[in-house]
Amino acid sequence: MANPQTPEPLPGKKRRIGVMTSGGDSPGMNGAVRAVVRMAIHKGCEAYCIYEGYDGLVKGGDMIKAVGWEDVRGFLSEGGTLIGTARCMEFMQRNGRLKAAKNMITKGMDALVICGGDGSLTGADKFRAEWPGLLQELVDTKQLTQEQITPFKHLNIVGLVGSIDNDLSMTDATIGCYSSLARICEAVDSVDTTATSHQRAFVIEVMGRHCGWLALMAGVSTGADFIFIPESPPSENWQDEMCSVIKKHRAMGKRKTIVIVAEGAHDQDLNPIKPSQVKDLLIKKAGLDTRVTTLGHVQRGGTPAAYDRMLATLQGVEAIKAVLDATPETPSPVICMIENKIVRRPLLEAVAQTKEVAKAIENKDFARAMELRDAEFHEYYRAYQITTAAEQPELMLPEDKRMRIGIIHVGAPAGGMNAATRAAVAYCLARGHQPVALHNGFPGLIRHHSDKPLGAVRDISWLEAESWASKGGSEIGTNRGLPSEDLETVANVFAQYNIQGLFVVGGFEAFTAVSELRRGREHYKAFKIPMVILPATISNNVPGTEYSIGSDTCLNALITYTDACRQSASASRRRVFVIETQGGESGYIATIAGLSVGALAVYTPEDGINLKMLDRDIDHLRDVFFKDKGHNRAGKIILVNEKASKTYSVQIIADMIAEAGKGKFESRHGVPGHFQQGTTPSPMDRVRAVRFAVKSLQHLESFAGKSKKEIDDDEMSATVIGMRGAKVLFSPMEKVEKKETDWKRRRPIDEFWMELKVIVDMLSGRPKATETK
Ligand code: ATP
Repeated sequence: MANPQTPEPLPGKKRRIGVMTSGGDSPGMNGAVRAVVRMAIHKGCEAYCIYEGYDGLVKGGDMIKAVGWEDVRGFLSEGGTLIGTARCMEFMQRNGRLKAAKNMITKGMDALVICGGDGSLTGADKFRAEWPGLLQELVDTKQLTQEQITPFKHLNIVGLVGSIDNDLSMTDATIGCYSSLARICEAVDSVDTTATSHQRAFVIEVMGRHCGWLALMAGVSTGADFIFIPESPPSENWQDEMCSVIKKHRAMGKRKTIVIVAEGAHDQDLNPIKPSQVKDLLIKKAGLDTRVTTLGHVQRGGTPAAYDRMLATLQGVEAIKAVLDATPETPSPVICMIENKIVRRPLLEAVAQTKEVAKAIENKDFARAMELRDAEFHEYYRAYQITTAAEQPELMLPEDKRMRIGIIHVGAPAGGMNAATRAAVAYCLARGHQPVALHNGFPGLIRHHSDKPLGAVRDISWLEAESWASKGGSEIGTNRGLPSEDLETVANVFAQYNIQGLFVVGGFEAFTAVSELRRGREHYKAFKIPMVILPATISNNVPGTEYSIGSDTCLNALITYTDACRQSASASRRRVFVIETQGGESGYIATIAGLSVGALAVYTPEDGINLKMLDRDIDHLRDVFFKDKGHNRAGKIILVNEKASKTYSVQIIADMIAEAGKGKFESRHGVPGHFQQGTTPSPMDRVRAVRFAVKSLQHLESFAGKSKKEIDDDEMSATVIGMRGAKVLFSPMEKVEKKETDWKRRRPIDEFWMELKVIVDMLSGRPKATETK
């Protein structure tokens, strides 16, 4: 048989890059494929989709196709994987990999981006290690010539982790895990209402053979009574332990019981713990009417959550950068996420560490298994334990270290405020502190004092806060008013109720309020107490953090809204939706929503809107509709922040577009308004609320027993907790107020997400987008 033709390599550093999805599908994989394809094209490379995972690579032919910009339109919002996935036995054998190598050379490809689990990434790295040998064998067996292989001597592999289990070490999140968690939480929230009605117990099995992330996070975000995860099996007499915790919760007045069991749960001797067993125990030992719900493949499916779309997009972009940066010596990277930062890690090390977890579990070395999980996992586990177990005498602080902690909500409601409050209350009670609800923000306190002494300041009980884990809005009431309305009365209330620490949950007003209290220390001794703000606002505009709870709920509400708009246009095809987002003077929500829905353009207050910009975007729209023939039936989205322009409202922009469309395309505007606050908070907002609340309370209690002067002298006595790059930390208010705050525009001076705007533009093909670095 004659040798197949092979194409010449592309000039310069340009490459032909293949992308595939492999192993179990996960929501967000399509977003990764879209980003890889478009970033590759943007960088002058050629992009190829390999269909059905390694099967396509081994079979070649039509299973490997060059793809263009338009081919991945609409991918972002689709669940599963549109290019297919498979488990391919042939690729496990060298002969299969030989065929795969030949197919790659035949297409002129020498770079692969693989989105899959640890198995898929292991296979990829093995393929890379064998590559020179495979090429030599192709020459020796006369399947290809030396000339044909010479330009493709080095194979580059980049891994993206697509997995619902979040089981890969070295990354905090895998593509798909938060969508899966959302499915689980929806299910548990639904079961919750019926459980409460009938006072029933439910045992819910979730996926996770070696990794308890889904079970743990579901436990944290739904306030489950007990969880079983493989990394940390329960104590030897777990049957008694579980029943005693649950009975205690019931005795305290709880009407329902939820137990979450990871698929791979076991006891300390590795005997599986199955939901049916837990059910029998709850019936016999706790006397509860108990049912089992196994969620199964529901957890894999559905539309990707906002975070997964963003993660997949940013990681896909980074994967192409990694391909282009690679040298023959660079170890294959896997693209990871640490807190809020995209990083590259050596693929082999990440896979090896992942496998070590399973090995540690097998060897019953559970301490090691927990150690091998990331720090975030640990913190969530501790936070879960401390806010759930009913009696933990070992956690109780001595009398002189116990405090009365005021909890107050400031500003508009944001998803996760109640979860944070619930966690703070549970933490306080576990440690012996007294949580005190300060109702309806600062105006609540001021009115309360001047009126009758009822209601606005109250000790909160465990039972009262217990049901708040998944509730939206603000159960203790929130208000935008500031303490400066009557600083003296606020100080009097603090003194009267002996508030010794303050936990403030809210947005920019909360930040302003704590700034006022801090500065008020000069005149009022009552403010010389430790204070922490947990940023909670859909606008994500609080200085000192890159993430505020509530912003993820808002993004999910916005993608639901925009997905519905896009779909409604599928009949008419040629419709542009101009949608107004909230966000105040910060374009964060508009930009990240734009990244998550694949918006054609995003208008922010930071950049403003001018006629030239609109003109250019209308030209771009004409171009897109011209090229788009039959490719995608859904509508196009333009997102406009509410304060992007005083002149150009969404209605005016929509009218301008419709006018320019001249019947070729039309336009509608939409204002989702308060819909953006969402209904049930997203699991991400809930779990982060719990984690940050526990950290905040730990910070506050570190001041117990200190004098007013010591507190006043310590800059860390008034702080904002936040995520900054790869870290979660407390920043002193004084510094953040003076150096990092744009007071006039009510946002941080440096907004970390500004660089992401370039990616939104690049991925939508918006003209004049500057090259990403
Ligand atoms: P999931 O998290 O869903 O299990 P995964 O990527 O770990 O995803 P696997 O079934 O382990 O899923 O692997 C997917 C495919 O990757 C396999 O069918 C096989 O083609 C390839 N693969 C896995 N391990 C290897 C290996 N050691 N060598 C070569 N190829 C492999």
